[in-house]
Amino acid sequence: MDKYDNDNIFARILRGKIPATILCEDDMTLAFMDIMPRADGHCLVIPKAPSRNILDVKPQDIAAVMQTVQKISRAVMKGFDADGLTIQQFNEQAGGQMVFHLHVHVIPRFDGVRLGPHTGIMADTDLLEKNAEIIRAAL
Ligand code: 5GP
Repeated sequence: MDKYDNDNIFARILRGKIPATILCEDDMTLAFMDIMPRADGHCLVIPKAPSRNILDVKPQDIAAVMQTVQKISRAVMKGFDADGLTIQQFNEQAGGQMVFHLHVHVIPRFDGVRLGPHTGIMADTDLLEKNAEIIRAAL
């Protein structure tokens, strides 16, 4: 496995070098909107400590991430009045990982609605902010 790259995009978000639509943060985690959402409300939770994925993350960091995932999940369910959620976490290129700083996807789901594809198209910033506000209000 390659080693952690300090210049990956989420490390740069953590250092404030590039913008993100932030939902909440604490000492150990940060939650923000996915810039290429597979559904309205698709967001990500990351540890602040560097780790590439599930294979090298410290137990206390993944525990903190999952606590924030639960908090965000409840807010997403409530804010979007969703029927369910898809939680995803990919590991290494073969596992579908594209950004090599551990992250967990939280995606609201609705009965009968298929999960959207990874389009690679960046969402409109105003729409991301509008959806973030729905989640923040439900936290
Ligand atoms: P994965 O590594 O789990 O396959 O996917 C990485 C996720 O990060 C994708 O859903 C992608 O849309 C998202 N992403 C990639 N670059 C950025 C970025 O610069 N900002 C944000 N907020 N999300 C990003």
